Amino acid sequence: MKIGILSTSKTLYSTRRMVEASTNRGHEVRVINHKRCYMNIATHRPGVHYNGEELEGFDAIIPRIGASVTFYGTAVVRQFEMMGVYSVNESVAITRSRDKLRALQLLSRKGVGLPVTGFASSPGDTDDLLALVGGAPVVIKLLEGTQGVGVVLAETQKAAESVIEAFRGLKANFLVQEFIKEAGGADIRCFVIGERVVAAMKRQAREGEFRSNLHRGGSAELIKLTPEERSTAVRAARIMGLNVAGVDLLRSNHGPIVMEVNSSPGLEGIEIATKKDVAELIIEFIEKNAKRGKTQTRGQG
Ligand code: ADP
Ligand code: MG
Repeated sequence: MKIGILSTSKTLYSTRRMVEASTNRGHEVRVINHKRCYMNIATHRPGVHYNGEELEGFDAIIPRIGASVTFYGTAVVRQFEMMGVYSVNESVAITRSRDKLRALQLLSRKGVGLPVTGFASSPGDTDDLLALVGGAPVVIKLLEGTQGVGVVLAETQKAAESVIEAFRGLKANFLVQEFIKEAGGADIRCFVIGERVVAAMKRQAREGEFRSNLHRGGSAELIKLTPEERSTAVRAARIMGLNVAGVDLLRSNHGPIVMEVNSSPGLEGIEIATKKDVAELIIEFIEKNAKRGKTQTRGQG
């Protein structure tokens, strides 16, 4: 097969590993910087161009779209879909999961366990908004943050009000969430491929920090999931429409709850913690599933 990896850099661990896995399995692989792609939006012959060349003959693409380029990156993925190229994660699924509020709304509709979450925009309703999620302590999150940036723990009502005021002043969209204290600064990353959790790790925040992101100094270790945690992770990925997803769970007093679903989950932490060849499993999934024109978004937008 000819596989394209949409990534801004060849040297990133995840990109390198997927290039390796593709090559080892006998595929032709190319890293394409989606930021430098330009598109020909035409009815009869849509195309993606790159450095003066038209990108042709791809059987599948693996989008690795960073949060800062979601808008343009998903447009490039969509363009490949219009050309009939199979994308391991569809553009709409990526957009869906990137928007934390939209993702939580979709998960709640399907009855997936979630932290109680509030969202508002007008300045008058701060008190009621805080009451809605049970009052302080609360976690306040920017809607499009990643790697723990823009996630704040407000331990008192006063602190929560100040943070909310500040976010409002910046005209940033945010959500307010019940703080799951019993998670103890840990969360569980479930790496889902298709209908299976292929690897899972527990991430523990460093001393004095509640965010377990590895980028925030958290540490990772192997963990055994309960059947309920497994099925919750698989369901969450399926509801988002993602074939490859990193589903983050918190262990709460009332069972596993989904915090977020990542459409470009990193491979470094999980491969090192679990010693599993996740990159190879992704390529295997593509071998089994890639078909021209299979992407559902084709013609739907
Ligand atoms: P990001 O997209 O920036 O990773 P998350 O929503 O995953 O944002 O939050 C970052 C980290 O903060 C999580 O991994 C978790 O450890 C902690 N966290 C987030 N929300 C809560 C919450 N409601 N209760 C307890 N811990 C939380
Ligand atoms: Mg996270």
